[in-house]
Amino acid sequence: MRRNAVIAFIIILLASCGHVSMPGRGSSAGSSQPGSNHNEEDASVPLRITAIDVGQGDATLIEAPSGEAMLIDAGPPGATDAAILPLLESRGVRELSQIIITHFHEDHTGGLSEVLAGRDGLAGTADDIKVKGDIYVRGIEENSAGGDGTGWTAWQDSYPRRIAHAGDRIKLGDCDVEVVAADGMLEDGTAIDYGEPPDENARSIALLISYAGFRMFVAADITGGGGDPPYQTPDIETPLAPLIGKIDVLRAAHHGSNTSSNQAFLDAAKPDVAIISVGDGNDYGHPHADVVERLLASGAAVYQTERGLLEIDEPTIAHGPITISVKESGQYDITLPGDD
Ligand SMILES: [Zn+2]
Repeated sequence: MRRNAVIAFIIILLASCGHVSMPGRGSSAGSSQPGSNHNEEDASVPLRITAIDVGQGDATLIEAPSGEAMLIDAGPPGATDAAILPLLESRGVRELSQIIITHFHEDHTGGLSEVLAGRDGLAGTADDIKVKGDIYVRGIEENSAGGDGTGWTAWQDSYPRRIAHAGDRIKLGDCDVEVVAADGMLEDGTAIDYGEPPDENARSIALLISYAGFRMFVAADITGGGGDPPYQTPDIETPLAPLIGKIDVLRAAHHGSNTSSNQAFLDAAKPDVAIISVGDGNDYGHPHADVVERLLASGAAVYQTERGLLEIDEPTIAHGPITISVKESGQYDITLPGDD
């Protein structure tokens, strides 16, 4: 949307000043308010989406206008205490409506048991994070070929599991979370060959979040045909691009890997803001400089949770959670920690 483009431009201007304070609100990442309700700090911000800094991994929290909250992925093992649980506590989130585990890789599933167990690390105690609805997965089988997922056995008997299908819509009040790809199927019925052995990243659940005209694509680790020769990943992004169209914010695929964020996808999506979830000191070369250059060239302001192995200066490095606050008008702003 035009007005969102203007907002994004303002964000770029502010970010380019070397200071990470964003318009509207200060960071709430460091303030702990146990027992407070969602959005209590600012009732004029109905929807809040937070890219949590879990190091090399992925976790996204949606706090909806209805007061419901959804967690998309749970980061790697060990990141929970430092990142996810403190954030849930500071936002007053003690119950999740749903959890979506995009695929069975440890950097997305490994923290799940820790999240559910709460701050004391013990399941079945008063501080457990409750799940009101379902835990969505891309399929029911455990550790399929190509996946190294963990955390499954710890929670599979405790919470209802539900297979996400492309085309599924999860309503969080007026916020719509749409499954646009899952297990190699796209919402228009297209089936992508995810190879043999299966490429687990290509099987990811990918989500389109819509609210009041605001549109954000959470790509998980879907692939776009890139890779290190001779291996070439299955291309989910190119056929998915026309189904998604223009978006405001992109949660970039696969930690900024060169498997993903291909040009055809970016040409269609034209994100104003791109967020890369990546950890310092990772072993994967994430994010790839070519990908970051492509995102910048597409006109996106690029944010990263951590620097990773990037040597380009343009992206804004949050060193903490990146919060997108969306107003009832569909306008949004971005808040980073460390703005004091
Ligand atoms: Zn990943």
